[in-house]
Amino acid sequence: MRVHYTIEALGPLHETPLESVPFETVQECPVCGSEKFMDVAVLENSLTSAWCHSCSHLFHRKRPTQEWHDHWYQFSWDKPTLKKTFFHRLPQGVRNLLKRVMGFYTVKRGIGFSKPGDKMREIFEFCRPVISPRSKVLDIGCGYGNNLFAFVQYGCTACGVDPSPHRAKAATFFGIRATNIPIERLELDTFQQRFDLVISNHVLEHVLTPHLFLSSIRRVLSPGGWICITVPNVENYLLLEQFFYALHAHCFSRESLTTLLEANKFLIHRVTEDFQIRVLAQYRPDAKDPVNPRSLLNGDRLSPLKEFIFTKCLGPDYERYEGQKIFCQWEDLASLKKLKYHHHVSYSSEKYPTKEGGVVRFSWEGPRELPIYFFKEGDKKGAPFWVK
Ligand SMILES: [Zn+2]
Repeated sequence: MRVHYTIEALGPLHETPLESVPFETVQECPVCGSEKFMDVAVLENSLTSAWCHSCSHLFHRKRPTQEWHDHWYQFSWDKPTLKKTFFHRLPQGVRNLLKRVMGFYTVKRGIGFSKPGDKMREIFEFCRPVISPRSKVLDIGCGYGNNLFAFVQYGCTACGVDPSPHRAKAATFFGIRATNIPIERLELDTFQQRFDLVISNHVLEHVLTPHLFLSSIRRVLSPGGWICITVPNVENYLLLEQFFYALHAHCFSRESLTTLLEANKFLIHRVTEDFQIRVLAQYRPDAKDPVNPRSLLNGDRLSPLKEFIFTKCLGPDYERYEGQKIFCQWEDLASLKKLKYHHHVSYSSEKYPTKEGGVVRFSWEGPRELPIYFFKEGDKKGAPFWVK
């Protein structure tokens, strides 16, 4: 199937010109190593997404190289990419100060006012059965430390790593030992201690080499220690966004995430699924393979794949709109918060972009076969991928 699109507004995302982007191609599933995968979405001269038949993992098979990612996170992750606001016109020094103040405010709010049920306590509540006030906890990608406040309140020793220096600094101010090193440089020496629990919230999907990410964690985790990983859930994620969004190198299924953890000697203890998948697992370095009972894994839940991809990508009514142009509208963030699941997108020919949203107009033709080829109208260089 060939899908043509035009962009009328692109919400919090923005397009990256393709000229200077070096791409690499992955030859095997980055989770299970299988070569049995199929391409499901091809952006002309840009990203290719593939689906692993062995572990139901969705990943960018053709993607920007590691160097491109490193550069992007170092220089652009924290920088404004949208139109200039009042904030962005301020001198750099004033902006840095304001960012820091905002960071402190976020941290203070977390420590001063968090109550059971608060969003910032979710991970703490999820992990509480396996920790004590003496536990040492590390957050990979800690930001301002939001997910650690509840652990600090409980009495735990809290450490964090984050690529952003000012975020790490803000977290440090409130009793979290935070540093801004890349995860692959995490060693026992970094904090001179082993951890009882390592948490990582919406980070793993950004990591090109998930096995290396987990081996970094294992270096600092006590035997018998715990890991709590949260990632977007492929079953409740807008695949259109996944196909275009370069920074999510992966979109995990319950099966692919548990496969990855199992291969790294983690015993699955608890899994929840909604718009995201959250797993609590115990590190068992001496365990014999496999460490997880098969009943926890639900292979093949997403078949038939074709129907799943088309429905998730183009909407449940996609057949009705064949050959027509439709709007694809990203909903504003305020309404997202009210929803139990992420519905990033709604389909309508009447709606127009909201302040935070975006509108992309699609039309498609040809037989409904995979992969879906995406072409941007009027762009001869290809179909640019999106970042934010
Ligand atoms: Zn796989």
